[in-house]
Amino acid sequence: MKRIYIDHSATTPLDKRALEKMLPYFTEVYGNPNSQHFFGREAMKAVDEARDKIASLIGAKPNEIYFTSGGTEADNWVLRGVAQQFAHKGKHMIISKIEHAAMLTTAKELEKQGFEFTYLGVDKYGVVDLEELKKSIRPDTILIGVMFANNEVGTIQPIKEIAEIAKEHGILCFTDAVQAMGTLKTDVRELGVDFMSFSAHKFYGPKGIGALYIRNGVPLGRIITGGHQERTKRGGTTNVPAIVGFAEALSIAEEELDKNAKYIASLRDAFIDRVLAEIPYVRLNGHRTQRLPGNADFSFEYIEGESILFSLDLAGIAVSSGSACSSGSLEASHVLLAMGVPEATAHGSIRFSFGKHNTMEEVNYTVDKLKEIVQKLREMSPLYSEMIKGEGKNV
Ligand code: PLP
Repeated sequence: MKRIYIDHSATTPLDKRALEKMLPYFTEVYGNPNSQHFFGREAMKAVDEARDKIASLIGAKPNEIYFTSGGTEADNWVLRGVAQQFAHKGKHMIISKIEHAAMLTTAKELEKQGFEFTYLGVDKYGVVDLEELKKSIRPDTILIGVMFANNEVGTIQPIKEIAEIAKEHGILCFTDAVQAMGTLKTDVRELGVDFMSFSAHKFYGPKGIGALYIRNGVPLGRIITGGHQERTKRGGTTNVPAIVGFAEALSIAEEELDKNAKYIASLRDAFIDRVLAEIPYVRLNGHRTQRLPGNADFSFEYIEGESILFSLDLAGIAVSSGSACSSGSLEASHVLLAMGVPEATAHGSIRFSFGKHNTMEEVNYTVDKLKEIVQKLREMSPLYSEMIKGEGKNV
């Protein structure tokens, strides 16, 4: 069966060029970078080179990059680390309502420990309101954290402006750039943030490796204690092959950024245009153009997102309902609810996220299948029949 992958916001395939670079570090250069001998030194050299490359690609200094097991750990580190380090200054943090679960779940845990969170609302496109942000700032606010681009609807946030507001008030600023990195320009100096998290598997790098940028001079508590790795800030034997693959994947992504973003956006736009023109009672969630190049998120009225997902899967097409991380849960997406999408509509939502290997032929095949599936599911939907009867039409 022909299989089509349109779920690149969940994860991407490893770029073969990154894999090639990684392979020797599994079997030939296998030393522990913390060892004092030759094997250790040659592994450390590869880690240093990767760190230098990643730093230069995001406008940071090498000693501002701390490797983690991925985006979730980096997000946890910022919230928990700031809580530990700055509790004496205040216990209030501001994040948005549409953050990833790695942030929201951690915030809920910190609330149990006496920290207070303000959850910023968003407009109908999913963008935070800067006036609301300014009004939420208190003398005891220690962190403002807003994601760079949303994983579900792809909305891009005004991070530079948010960082300026934070700086004016002497508050630390964090952005989760997991979805943005490799697709949008992410220069930490230009953005003016103090912390930024990222994860290699979102830009054709390996899974289980990410990093946290920590601006020099900003102290941050540790969450993973152990050996002296990562300049004593994060214990655990260094994952050399993954770090090498991470640096190579980021380097490729940055080199091909403009070309790929343009190509992927052309697929997304063709897809959006056809879906809006050919499928009735459908709503595009998020902004028409101010979104991640590969993201198209739709709500199909009168049917369940899960039913569409399973039918597409049977047709060989892989997509997500809501965000991959919350799939399996029957709750409507917190992102769509925050954007004011009615709960019943939010239940019928599907995220399509295109990548560099998708083709226009796949886009067209997917729309053709989607049309058939939506029509079939609506024919079985009592809600749809009622609505149609109400309009005096035949199902
Ligand atoms: N933050 C965002 C915005 C994400 O989309 C994800 C993954 O979906 C994460 C954090 C978690 O990253 P990881 O899978 O590397 O733990």
